[in-house]
Amino acid sequence: MAIAYVSHYDCQMHDMGHHHPEQPARLSAINDRLIATGLEMVLHQYDAPLATREMLEAAHDSDYIDEIFAAAPKEGIKWVDGDTAMNKYSLNAALRAAGAVALGVDLVMEGKVKQVFCGVRPPGHHAERHRAMGFCLFNNIAVGAYHAINQYGLKRVAIVDFDVHHGNGTEDIVSGDERILFCSTFQHPFYPHSGYDTDVPNIVNAPLPSGATGKQFREAVEQHWLPRLEAFEPELVMISAGFDAHQADDMANLQLIDSDYAWVTRRLCEVADRWAQGRVVSSLEGGYELHALARSVEAHLKAFLGEN
Ligand SMILES: [Zn+2]
Repeated sequence: MAIAYVSHYDCQMHDMGHHHPEQPARLSAINDRLIATGLEMVLHQYDAPLATREMLEAAHDSDYIDEIFAAAPKEGIKWVDGDTAMNKYSLNAALRAAGAVALGVDLVMEGKVKQVFCGVRPPGHHAERHRAMGFCLFNNIAVGAYHAINQYGLKRVAIVDFDVHHGNGTEDIVSGDERILFCSTFQHPFYPHSGYDTDVPNIVNAPLPSGATGKQFREAVEQHWLPRLEAFEPELVMISAGFDAHQADDMANLQLIDSDYAWVTRRLCEVADRWAQGRVVSSLEGGYELHALARSVEAHLKAFLGEN
């Protein structure tokens, strides 16, 4: 069955300045790779809609949403966090990034496609209920998860996050909500210095030490994620797909390679096939070394196709 790629040109217009690693070229690199490999011909392409206020309010406080709308500059750059800024395109980019994941949920729930990848920026997993952080404005994956719950009445949504950084924002938003199981691997100790001591029933955190290899990552997934995912019986599997744990990415110090992303994607598809009619919605988070990012996204999408 078909795979959807959801993105929007607005997401390339969001720009936090010349030397910022979370740069428009990330999406260009992915798009170039999809064309060069022929994947573009296979994917069903969709333009991301703007997330509605109602969608955002399922994951964020109303006054925080007002703050982000008010912060959006008419020109220049406005910093909303130590490393997170907005230009005049950023608000729409952020609304489309969250809207992309919600559309992805619609596409899999309506049976139009089996899997969705949202090639969007800004990323979302550091954005807390009431705080922009770590290049993130709205928590795209959480907005999508609550869209699945509120719009389609799902009772069990799994979110998995293999970005090298802990998804503190997602944890902040979904912690204690038994309708969502949040499974994460991340480098520890490392930014944002959270998650390693969480003791909440619906949160499964597996910190990895600096230098950890793909073998250690796979062991963590097999020991910590998969048993909990199988027991949870998710009706939808969502992925915070950050590719900054790649060994070529100098944002952090993990040693994953392209095939590790293919492997974890296949394992998650197996869970989705067993419990969720195959439904997987994945959204881009980190990944800053452009070649490794583009190849890893290729591996992720080919694993959706069953090629690994
Ligand atoms: Zn990251």
